[in-house]
Amino acid sequence: MSNIPEEAAGGSPGPEEAGKKRMLTSGHPTDRIGVHSPGLLWRFYQWLRGTEQFLVRPAADLPLVLISYGKGDSEGMERLRESLEETWLTFPGSFRQRYQAILDHMPPLVVVELRRRNICACLGHHHPPGTESRLTRKLRDLSGVRTGELDLAFESIREWQPLPLSHLALPSAADTEEVASFRLQLALLSVFLHELHHLALPEEPERIVRQQSQQFYADVLSHFVQQHFGVDYGLQREAGSMK
Ligand SMILES: [Zn+2]
Repeated sequence: MSNIPEEAAGGSPGPEEAGKKRMLTSGHPTDRIGVHSPGLLWRFYQWLRGTEQFLVRPAADLPLVLISYGKGDSEGMERLRESLEETWLTFPGSFRQRYQAILDHMPPLVVVELRRRNICACLGHHHPPGTESRLTRKLRDLSGVRTGELDLAFESIREWQPLPLSHLALPSAADTEEVASFRLQLALLSVFLHELHHLALPEEPERIVRQQSQQFYADVLSHFVQQHFGVDYGLQREAGSMK
């Protein structure tokens, strides 16, 4: 407990804090790792209170994710949280299965540094062991479990628009907020999975990692469009690099 700042230990939580506490201490029905234990999550909560971090309780086949984000960037945090907790589960199992071997290699806890943009204009990076932030090192000490780290550039991912829908092939109904929202959630997940792939299999060349994440994005989007509009879609251009 020596890593927990004194000021984080006392006082009664406000409504928002109480909500966070509730989320952090409720167990996931399909826990596969000890890190979900209420005692440990309570310690995280105590340590993180008042800071701009949010612990996501994702689908059981994804690692536990702590999103660290800047003040005023709660929209990005919310969208990523929704992607991990909800959108992922709407994908057919055969698509999710493609990442199973990679997810099996993942540390049980992953810190995502969510930024608006990276100076290098990349959509995200994985942070190899030894290059992680102080936050991640502390969490690793607190939890005693392997903890990975990556960063995602929310606004850049929003603008990336990978493999855009060919509007010629789609009804105008496809140009809706619902579709735009789904594409953003899928793009966030695709870049997240891309960086997890690098973390899990550091020897895998970028070409292979990118091919898999782009194929994943294209196939899930194609499935979504087919389900919603009953039409296939075309690709307007090659996707840009995720790195
Ligand atoms: Zn890459």
